[in-house]
Amino acid sequence: MVRILAIANQKGGVGKTTTSINLAASLASIGKRVLLVDLDPQGNTTMGSGVDKRLLDHTVYQILLGEQTIAKVRLSTKPGKYDLLPANQELAGAEVEMVSLEQRESRLKEALQAIQADYDFILIDCPPALNLLTLNGLCAAHAVIIPMQCEYYALEGLSDLVNTIKRVRMGFNPSIRIEGLLRTMFDPRNLLAQQVSDQLKQHFGNKVYQTIIPRNIRLAEAPGFGLPVLYHDRQSRGARAYLELANEILATAS
Ligand code: ATP
Ligand code: MG
Repeated sequence: MVRILAIANQKGGVGKTTTSINLAASLASIGKRVLLVDLDPQGNTTMGSGVDKRLLDHTVYQILLGEQTIAKVRLSTKPGKYDLLPANQELAGAEVEMVSLEQRESRLKEALQAIQADYDFILIDCPPALNLLTLNGLCAAHAVIIPMQCEYYALEGLSDLVNTIKRVRMGFNPSIRIEGLLRTMFDPRNLLAQQVSDQLKQHFGNKVYQTIIPRNIRLAEAPGFGLPVLYHDRQSRGARAYLELANEILATAS
């Protein structure tokens, strides 16, 4: 059965998009059928997958408004070997235009139903806000991956996100759970990072992934080439870390 995972954290720049692209590519390289949904008007997931966001006929925007089907909008990415529902700036308008629609929180969930049998994994890259787009991501998902940097304010922001997930559970999606917390851009020589990491494990126990994503320049460079890091530098620590994460996720029951 398909596993639908939202990658969410309302804090900006914590590694949501890097995780979405590289987890999608890693799972696909292991032979899984993956759809990656770009739910952020910034379109970084789209560009980082090698698709030019300025040249799109259709995006996830039309899917949310019910004007197109996913089958028409999805693209296959090379060499990432996963499918992509792309996004661009147009999506910024969806927030306002969806307000008058019925069941506006579950537009993505409804749309995914038609194609979810085509995939083993659907990953949803959420924008850095607890807005209607993120809400659509959370309503559609079975579980949430929360990337976070181990820095001073990280835990504070986490409680807002955990409360939002609780609200989604009560209101729209009773079975949603936290799949895992992912430590990103980790520098083991940084004492504060170690301390925050320890606190995280105390609070969330085995919800914290064992895999740690190190700070790695190859991960930051790869989107400039429109490539997942696996196809930019397969031997890099970043590439190996995301493959390890894919295997850790595959080893846990859905
Ligand atoms: P936003 O909230 O704007 O959507 P985000 O949470 O999706 O941001 P990313 O875009 O993935 O975060 O990462 C932010 C920046 O940090 C990017 O420039 C990215 O290339 C870089 N980056 C992410 N992860 C790493 C890493 N492990 N090592 C080095 N650089 C990284
Ligand atoms: Mg992003």
